[in-house]
Amino acid sequence: MTAGMVDKGFKEFLSTLDADVRFDEQMKDHTYLAIGGPADVFITPRSVASLSSVLKAAKETGMPVFPIGGGTNILVSDMGIEGAAVSMAAFNEVRTLSEDSDSASLYVDAGFPLMRLLRHAAEKGLTGTEGLAGIPGQVGGAVAGNAGAFDCEIKDVIVNVSLMNKDGNIRKLPKDEINFDYRYAGIPQGEIILGAEFSLAKDDPEAVSKRMQEFIDEKKSRQPLGERSAGCVYKNPEGGFAGKLIDEAGCKGMRVGGIEVSALHANFFINTGGGTATDYMSLMLKVVSKVRTTSGAVLEPEIRVVGRC
Ligand SMILES: Cc1cc2nc3c(=O)[nH]c(=O)nc-3n(C[C@H](O)[C@H](O)[C@H](O)COP(=O)(O)OP(=O)(O)OC[C@H]3O[C@@H](n4cnc5c(N)ncnc54)[C@H](O)[C@@H]3O)c2cc1C
Repeated sequence: MTAGMVDKGFKEFLSTLDADVRFDEQMKDHTYLAIGGPADVFITPRSVASLSSVLKAAKETGMPVFPIGGGTNILVSDMGIEGAAVSMAAFNEVRTLSEDSDSASLYVDAGFPLMRLLRHAAEKGLTGTEGLAGIPGQVGGAVAGNAGAFDCEIKDVIVNVSLMNKDGNIRKLPKDEINFDYRYAGIPQGEIILGAEFSLAKDDPEAVSKRMQEFIDEKKSRQPLGERSAGCVYKNPEGGFAGKLIDEAGCKGMRVGGIEVSALHANFFINTGGGTATDYMSLMLKVVSKVRTTSGAVLEPEIRVVGRC
C-alpha cells in the first residue's frame, strides 16, 4: 500500500467513519521527541466500530497499521510512516469494575494517560502503580512495552488485556497468556490494545500520593524529564546499567546535529532543537560502538524505531 492508494480508495471510505482523519500528518507533532516525517494517514477512531472497520479495511487493502500511544517511546523516521498511524487517544476512560474492603478492579482504556491513572489510583487510595510515576504516555503504550521503574512493572497489576485483531475482532487475554518480559509484552504485530483490567490493593490515599511524589522527585533528580527525549534509548544489559556504560565510555554530551547525549542521564538522547531521526540514529551507532570498545557490552535499543527506511 502506498500513499497514492490511500488517496484513492481509502479516502472515501475513511470519510464515512466516526473518526478524526488526517492525511500526510507530520509525526513530529505526535512524538515526545518532536521528530518524524508524515504518516500517509493518521486516524483517531472515536468508536470501537470505527476502529474495527479501519483494521478490516487495512487488512483487505494491505495497508500497514501502526498503533500509536503518546509517542513517548518511539523514534519515527524522517520519511514518516507508510500506511496508517492509528491513535487510541479518543478511548480515554477508566471505570471501576468491582471493589471490596481490600482491593478494587479497574478497566482502563488504552488512550487513558498513564499518569492520570496513577493520580486516579492515589485519589481512590489504591496502591500498586506508584513505581510508574513520572512515565509519560498512555496506558496502551505502557502495556505494549511493559513499562516499569523502581522495581515495578505494569504487568504486576494487570489482570487481562483487551485486544482487537486485524479482522476487527475483540478478545480478552488473561495475563498468564501474555509473554510479558523486560520492556516487552509480545502483543502480535498489527493488533491493537483496547484497554486493560488492573487489580489494585487498598491503602491510605495520602500514603499512596506520598510514595508517588517520592518516585517523581527521585526520577526528576536523575532523568531529564523536561527535555525532548524518548526515555531510555537502550535496555539495561543483564546485571548492568546502560546509562552507566554510556557514561563510562565518555559519551555524555556527545552530539550529532540537534541530538545530544544527556549530561544528566547518559541513556537519554535529547533533541536540543531541529534534531532529526537521521541524527538520532547516527548518534545511536556512535554510542553503541564506543560502549562496545570500552566495555565489550552490546547495547540493545529500548526505543522503537519505526517508519520508512
Ligand atoms: C522522559 C521520559 C521518561 C521515561 N521513563 C520511562 C520509565 O521510567 N520506564 C519505562 O518503561 N519507560 C519510560 N519512558 C518511555 C515511555 O514513556 C514508556 O515506554 C511509555 O509507556 C510508552 O507509552 P506511549 O503511549 O507513549 O507509547 P508510544 O511511544 O506511542 O508507543 C510505544 C510502542 O507501543 C505501541 N503501542 C502504543 N499504544 C498501543 C496500543 N493501544 N496497542 C498496541 N500497541 C500500542 C506502539 O506501536 C509502539 O510500538 C520514558 C519516556 C520519557 C520521554
